[in-house]
Amino acid sequence: VDYTAEEIKEIAQNENVRFLRLMFTDVSGMIKNVEVPISQIDKVLDHKMMFDGSSIEGFVRIEESDMYLYPDLTTWMIFPWEAEHGKVARLICDIYNSDGTPFAGDPRGNLKRVLSRMQELGFTSFELGPEPEFFLFQLDKDENITTNLNDHGGYFDFAPMDLGENCRRDIVLELEKLGFEVEASHHEAAPGQHEIDFKYADAIDACDNIQTFKLVVKTIAREYGLHATFMPKPMDGIAGSGMHCNMSLFKGEQNAFYDESGEMELSTTAYQFLAGLIKHARAYTAVCDPTVNSYKRLVPGYEAPVHVAWSGHNRSPLIRVPSSRGMSTRLELRSVDPSANPYLASATLVEAGLDGIQNELVPPEEVSRNIYVMSEEERTKAQIFDLPSTLHNALKELKDDSVIIEALGSHIYENFLEAKQMEWSAFRQTVSEWERKQYLELY
Ligand code: ADP
Ligand code: MG
Ligand code: MG
Ligand code: MG
Ligand code: MG
Repeated sequence: VDYTAEEIKEIAQNENVRFLRLMFTDVSGMIKNVEVPISQIDKVLDHKMMFDGSSIEGFVRIEESDMYLYPDLTTWMIFPWEAEHGKVARLICDIYNSDGTPFAGDPRGNLKRVLSRMQELGFTSFELGPEPEFFLFQLDKDENITTNLNDHGGYFDFAPMDLGENCRRDIVLELEKLGFEVEASHHEAAPGQHEIDFKYADAIDACDNIQTFKLVVKTIAREYGLHATFMPKPMDGIAGSGMHCNMSLFKGEQNAFYDESGEMELSTTAYQFLAGLIKHARAYTAVCDPTVNSYKRLVPGYEAPVHVAWSGHNRSPLIRVPSSRGMSTRLELRSVDPSANPYLASATLVEAGLDGIQNELVPPEEVSRNIYVMSEEERTKAQIFDLPSTLHNALKELKDDSVIIEALGSHIYENFLEAKQMEWSAFRQTVSEWERKQYLELY
């Protein structure tokens, strides 16, 4: 809803809101909060709220540390679960420098920058429909996280007393109270694993929704003595958690990917966007699958993509064109996982697609065979290449792709790269349980 500042003040008073939580997202995708009592509401709405940017990892240097929070009034939301100490309302904020210019290191602001480039090319919105998956783990009596999954059932097990099912329902109810349109919620393939899908929205709203969604899922899970995790591959031997991203471009009320008379009823724009997604796939993987652990999910055998290819029919390739047409015409990218910063991931995906449109790229042939059973030679002939196999390899691809670097902007790119290189280096220096099992006795 497009609230005015006056309306927000009125609602806050009528609803007896006691605290305002000002939220933004850092480069690693973590939600950051500045909480202020309601007495500060005028200051908040007048863009006078300041915070120390240098206290946030990878944000700014000390000498430029005064940052301002500009709340986006359309994101006003009263949290339903914290009423005991007085109600808490949140506003998602953009970050500005003290001279009144948008801060280049703000992932949400950066996405706005990329989207305005899209608008210059004649599109009105980039629509995003995410399918986040997550696991529920038990907490022990001291509230520590365990590696015990909260259920051992498979896909169709009927368990009315199952903690996971009740918890998931409660999450859905809370989301609906917050205005989410939940389209589906189901147990996933692995034990303890769940998926909740909500209706697509324009990229900024969809990313805000993803951040809110994670907060709601974690908060409600806690009430059930559970820990919800969006870690991509928490357990080996069972499926990991992805966050398929469904995407389309709109021109006003028209879905620009739909063309009744096009091949497969897809427009030239859709094919060009697809070609851009294929061309830049290896580079944006670093952003869409940004953890060491992400690459443990991108392996054969669990429906996660391993090769760069597209198809209208089967679910093994990186990009699928779901069969719906009209308003629901979309491309589904299946590599993204929920450890990604949604604002950064979206920025790279739009930029990749727009590059396809601007350069009138043509995608390779559709792959209708099961790619996992093709030989390497067959794959090469069909122009099917591999996704990066590690974070290290993905970062190398990112460094070579100026289009994806431009999608992040140099401020974010440099901070992201440095943080991720440190993450890789720390991982590389650790000796794992697997290695001891494999080598300790053998050598
Ligand atoms: P799957 O068959 O892959 O499990 P789901 O039905 O779980 O797909 O999720 C489909 C997602 O695609 C939903 O979030 C839905 O809102 C979204 N979606 C539908 N139409 C569009 C569109 N035009 N652009 C982007 N996303 C869309
Ligand atoms: Mg909005
Ligand atoms: Mg789904
Ligand atoms: Mg799923
Ligand atoms: Mg899907």
